[in-house]
Amino acid sequence: MQELAADACREIVRATRMLVNEGVMDAFGHVSVRKPNDPDKYLMSRACAPNLITSEDILEFTLESDLVQPNKAQLFAERVIHGEIYKVRPDVMAIVHCHPTSLLPFCISSTPLVPVFLMGATIGPHVPFWDQQDEFGDTTLLVVKPEEGRSLARALGQNSVVLMKRHGATAIGANLPDLVFRAVYACRNADAQSAAHALGAVVALSQGETERAGALCSRVGGFSSRTWDFWQHQLDLTGNSPTEG
Ligand code: MN
Repeated sequence: MQELAADACREIVRATRMLVNEGVMDAFGHVSVRKPNDPDKYLMSRACAPNLITSEDILEFTLESDLVQPNKAQLFAERVIHGEIYKVRPDVMAIVHCHPTSLLPFCISSTPLVPVFLMGATIGPHVPFWDQQDEFGDTTLLVVKPEEGRSLARALGQNSVVLMKRHGATAIGANLPDLVFRAVYACRNADAQSAAHALGAVVALSQGETERAGALCSRVGGFSSRTWDFWQHQLDLTGNSPTEG
């Protein structure tokens, strides 16, 4: 990997390990980042266990989700999710696809996920659903064809998170700390909403609250900078920090 992107590779490794440590990812799922200074490429690991990735595993892809330098590495079948979103969302710099147990009940029940507390506002006022069955009929549920990725990107639209029926979720970020913040707090919001629903009526943030709190969550150098440091320290405490850099 070129020196230019070495920092980005190290950040993907940290982001991925944080998301495993915080329960957003398990053995499945993947994180990517748009290549710095080269917006028509993205960086993502080869297919491997997310908690074990190192910078050596990071590969460079075109927005068609082809390897820039073809090799024999096994690749994530669902990488088209990333390429197809980067194509249509120039503002998106990082993406995660995952199957968190917190979000799955919403993906299965089709109950709308709504922001219910300050940090939960990071999911935005609307979290759309995408059902692969609608356009593609019976599939393995893996998003592997470019047209499936394009369909998912259309469903995401200008939103920040899309829930995939009977499958999982995909979230976007303006950078990796922003992405990790959104992915973790989407799950915490889902947990809080589910728990509140068991107690009584769920009252979501108002539109104005969602806009104001959401802007606070997205401020560069704000919350996501603090959570990046916090979750990094949690990685250190659990011995799951990458040994490099
Ligand atoms: Mn998946």
